[in-house]
Amino acid sequence: MIYSFTVNSSSREELIDITGEIRRLISSGKTTEGVCFVYTPHTTAGVTINENADPTVRKDIVKGLYTLNLERVQFSHLEGNSPAHIKSSLIGCSLFVFIEKGAPVLGTWQGIYFCEFDGPRTRTVMVKID
Ligand code: ZN
Repeated sequence: MIYSFTVNSSSREELIDITGEIRRLISSGKTTEGVCFVYTPHTTAGVTINENADPTVRKDIVKGLYTLNLERVQFSHLEGNSPAHIKSSLIGCSLFVFIEKGAPVLGTWQGIYFCEFDGPRTRTVMVKID
């Protein structure tokens, strides 16, 4: 079974913590040891694992990608959101995390993030637990 849930972004670019949703989906299933795949079916968004202890790290990732200065480039894509497409490809639209004892195996400081690059929008995150 493939689960899905929605994420509502509130700004153009932001990282949204989805660790809780992933934890809940894993703990509500029967898989105690396996793999959890997280995927977002969008071309201007992504998913990633990074620090969840200090919330400024999330903002710094957005800031850091902004220093690529993609907004200054004259792209061909008529929709005008090529920087978001490029950031989506850099971050990637899928990830996996191992499952042990019915919980995702994350480092002490790690969290799972949905990455918005062309918001605000309502987005979908899909999860397959195996
Ligand atoms: Zn586009």
